[in-house]
Amino acid sequence: MQKEQTTLADYRNKLIVNPGNKLRLKDVDPDFKGHHETKEAAAPELERYRQKLSQMQALLYAEKKHSILIVLQAMDAGGKDGTIKHVFAALNPQGASVAVFKQPTPIELDHDFLWRVHPHAPPKGWVAIFNRSHYEDVLVTRVHKLVDKPTCTARYELIRAFELGLKESGTAILKFFLHISKEEQLARFGKRLDDPSRNWKISESDYTERALWDDYMRAVEDALSATSTRDAPWYVIPANHKWFRNLAVAQIVADTMEELGMSFPKPSVDLAEIRRKYHAAVREENKVEGGKAGENGFGIQEPGHGRPHNVRATNPLP
Ligand code: ATP
Ligand code: MG
Repeated sequence: MQKEQTTLADYRNKLIVNPGNKLRLKDVDPDFKGHHETKEAAAPELERYRQKLSQMQALLYAEKKHSILIVLQAMDAGGKDGTIKHVFAALNPQGASVAVFKQPTPIELDHDFLWRVHPHAPPKGWVAIFNRSHYEDVLVTRVHKLVDKPTCTARYELIRAFELGLKESGTAILKFFLHISKEEQLARFGKRLDDPSRNWKISESDYTERALWDDYMRAVEDALSATSTRDAPWYVIPANHKWFRNLAVAQIVADTMEELGMSFPKPSVDLAEIRRKYHAAVREENKVEGGKAGENGFGIQEPGHGRPHNVRATNPLP
């Protein structure tokens, strides 16, 4: 990544909810596009960050010291599913998980609100993505007055302690609120109506929840302000432009992973010894057999014999 570009677009600095500061969503323009004008112009940069994510995940998995927890929150049609598909598809599924948190079941409701969440925390080496999360328990529950204000305040504290515990065991936590405008939400609902392949996504509750938009914004402002910490920061991602949303999330996650300073573990065996013991002998063998090439009577190199091996034998691997 060129330095100039990194400086131009340090979305971690720009979009973070500074710990201790009161978030005002009105100050965040959901139409913000950063330094690119179009999806096409942003595409190569997004691709570079997707590749970086993939490389970082390989290190994460091999090193097995850290894990990554990504929390996605948004209003309906805010783009949680799209972000998972377009950004996190860059991850190797062996080493990544997605947990989706819907309305709690009766059994879940009989437990404390973190009970259903903890088992989905990522083990070392893994990336876990939460599509909705424990934050529903201070957002939708608050808007619908299922919990009162003191309970909500106590839950902020429990959440901070929970996330600190995860951090202490090696988990880097990144939390994203995908911020769309109320108008953009209606436009996206409209597109779902017009697209038969997406009709199934429409629910009446999308529209009834929309009527509570301002209450949701207030709940989001309070929850994010209370729970954005240095170790588990919130980022408010302008998300009216899906391509910008993808670029910002990809950059923030990839750069955070890079800063973990990961490296591949040292081999547990003596490589020179392994090479000598198991590879050199085979190479010698092939050299001898390769010398007899043409014995099939057609002068054709058979697979596994002849030139390719001879080439390697004269040019040993570094
Ligand atoms: P989509 O984008 O496909 O609509 P979604 O995440 O909105 O995805 P839905 O099945 O439409 O999925 O909605 C899940 C609902 O579950 C949301 O309205 C959310 O607020 C609610 N929910 C999630 N967790 C809790 C919780 N702990 N308490 C109460 N409601 C919850
Ligand atoms: Mg929904």
